[in-house]
Amino acid sequence: MQAFRADLLDFTAPPGWGDTSAPGVRWRPDHWLLVGEDGRIAGVQAEAPPAGVPRHDHRGRLLMPGFIDTHVHSPQLGVMASYGTELLDWLHTYTFPAERAWADPAVATAGSALFLDALLAHGTTAAVVFPTVHKGSVDAIFTAAQARGMRLIAGKVLMDRHAPDGLRDDVAGAERDCIDLIQRWHGNGRCSYAVTVRFAPTSTPEQLAMAGALCRADTTLYMQTHVAENREEVRWVGELFPQARSYLDVYAQAGLLHPRAVLAHGIWLDAADRAALHDTGAQIAFCPSSNLFLGSGLFDWPAMAAAGVPVSVASDVGGGTSLNLPRTLADGYKVQALGGHNLTAWCALHAATRGAAQALQLDHEIGSLEPGRVADFCIWDWATGAVDGQRQQLARDLHERVFAWLLMADERHLVQTWVAGQARHTRTDG
Ligand SMILES: [Zn+2]
Repeated sequence: MQAFRADLLDFTAPPGWGDTSAPGVRWRPDHWLLVGEDGRIAGVQAEAPPAGVPRHDHRGRLLMPGFIDTHVHSPQLGVMASYGTELLDWLHTYTFPAERAWADPAVATAGSALFLDALLAHGTTAAVVFPTVHKGSVDAIFTAAQARGMRLIAGKVLMDRHAPDGLRDDVAGAERDCIDLIQRWHGNGRCSYAVTVRFAPTSTPEQLAMAGALCRADTTLYMQTHVAENREEVRWVGELFPQARSYLDVYAQAGLLHPRAVLAHGIWLDAADRAALHDTGAQIAFCPSSNLFLGSGLFDWPAMAAAGVPVSVASDVGGGTSLNLPRTLADGYKVQALGGHNLTAWCALHAATRGAAQALQLDHEIGSLEPGRVADFCIWDWATGAVDGQRQQLARDLHERVFAWLLMADERHLVQTWVAGQARHTRTDG
């Protein structure tokens, strides 16, 4: 057993949209989090633990569940902040050349280690990840996740057309690779497999049908893809799939929408699409930093929430410009403000913790500080300098304080990251 003293914040229910009054917010200032030898949360209490239990005194700091990034690309750290393109140009100019290098297992191994260490150093303990089309990129990311004890969902990217040489597969070969990877990795420790369609334009209808058949054959598999990110992309999908009612309908017809489907973006969707997402149980990963950077558009979160579609939050690095979810959520607030809506700190932080865990059907394992959950958590400074320090002093209530923290914090506020009861990142002065 070990014990951590800090201000504990997590959620017991979804906060209502626009409601700052803290329904579902569990705030336990200056409490002790107890972590057992099995790497799980053993309890939370106000009184000090018995003598002999090792103590980590983080009095005056914030302790929250580790963040869950539901859409991020392991091979794209090197294309972050690439100038001057929208989605389709960006893929061909920057992203595809970077991903082609991951055909080399040594590149994939080193890149996966760098990527997961970076997630941990930005406060993220679990992620849904796109590696590359190469089978070895999946082995590399799962091997690196297991070495760090992390909860990870990933799969081989499917692309059998409209991609350059060295990044295309074919239906039969891709199916063989998926089946082999599923057998070796799905349910292996904290790893789960996601049938990973890059996006509709880079798969033939035959490959989409094969992906749908994999999902039908094992309903515990995840599915991840992109949908309706950019207007030019939406127009292209309309040309490639004239028989589909909409972009989303391409995936619906292939049997790819189900309760374990994670679709990134979902900006250019209509009411019928939102109803289809709700009816199938699929979720949207909102990627505000990426959407702003690539000029893709403004996601309408309240419309999605009103349709009963789960929304989580994701960095989408390398389209996104930071792996840090507080920075991403700050962008999310600004995107919603442009749509005339106020994103509360509660909605934002819930979506990055308990909300994402629920949408991924992993809330028995991650996303809250409930006893029995795996001890994946982060310790943050409320402030690191004179400006945010003064802002914290002036906050009049809990929401104001947490909201100011959320908008002003970044990875420099992160003191320590723990995964399954093991310290996996410590700030150098922490
Ligand atoms: Zn993406």
